[in-house]
Amino acid sequence: MVELNELLKKLQERTSAKFEKMPSVVLKDGAFNVTKLPVDKPEWHRITDLVAVMFDLKSSTNLEKGRKPASTASIYDAGVGGVVHIFNYFDADFVDIQGDGGFGLFWGERRYERALCAAISIHTFSDDFESQLEAKWSKAPSTGFKVGIASGPVLAKRVGLSKHLDMQEPVWAGRPVNYAAKAAQQTEPGKTLVTGSVWDAVSNNDYIAFSCGCAEGVEGGVPSLLWEERILVNIPDAEKYGQVLKSGWCVNHGEEYCNAILNGDTYRAEIDETSRSQLTLLASGSEGVKMKARKERRAERMILESEVLAMRGNRRSTFNKLDR
Ligand SMILES: [Zn+2]
Repeated sequence: MVELNELLKKLQERTSAKFEKMPSVVLKDGAFNVTKLPVDKPEWHRITDLVAVMFDLKSSTNLEKGRKPASTASIYDAGVGGVVHIFNYFDADFVDIQGDGGFGLFWGERRYERALCAAISIHTFSDDFESQLEAKWSKAPSTGFKVGIASGPVLAKRVGLSKHLDMQEPVWAGRPVNYAAKAAQQTEPGKTLVTGSVWDAVSNNDYIAFSCGCAEGVEGGVPSLLWEERILVNIPDAEKYGQVLKSGWCVNHGEEYCNAILNGDTYRAEIDETSRSQLTLLASGSEGVKMKARKERRAERMILESEVLAMRGNRRSTFNKLDR
């Protein structure tokens, strides 16, 4: 016999107890360790800035139709497995897979650089994955990986049953994972969509912002701005003023640029002032509303920084201002 009423009553009491006594929040910038996330004590670990790269296989339901389970399995294995290899290669700090998609999280040193290199690699990989798929199954629906990137503060904890390792998962409370998922949902393969804060962090990197100048693999052209403005739907704040990147790695320069980005290089002398002014226009926003959004994001980062300072001064105290 199942004692349903007792279960529901216990949950009711548990909810009320959790709301009564807020958990403590411990700042873990520079010392975050996902294996040390608490599960049975009321304590969350905070990272001030985390980058989430979400990926999602387009038309995965249609890929299964009329196909043998083993064929579908090989598509998932090649596709999703390939993306996981990329995350691992670029030192993602955490990877979560949910069937036909998932996400990689990056924190600490060079988080934006690693995340962007991973995302651009997913684009390049996705192009090859799709052409191999089409060559093998000519009637396969058009597919590929949709990628969205977002960043911001998160609170993390292992949620679940403390004595059952298979019934607990790290939970990443905050906007980055949520917004990266929204970004991935509303884009298509070959168009990496990033939110406002991600653009703020990477737009001054010439290796990320401008092309190498190759056209269809032929060298010698003039470098151009690679990004376009995109307003993200279903994002209620200044993060919605995003940007989309439509290119993967160049066959001639990809490796060189990828290494430059990971080394922290940002400046290319060959970018002329006309191209840079294009970027300035894009970065600051040609309309007042985008300027305002950028200011809002900057103000938010300043609030975060002051919170971090306050928390550093008072490390283990309860930190309840977060539900603002
Ligand atoms: Zn090139």
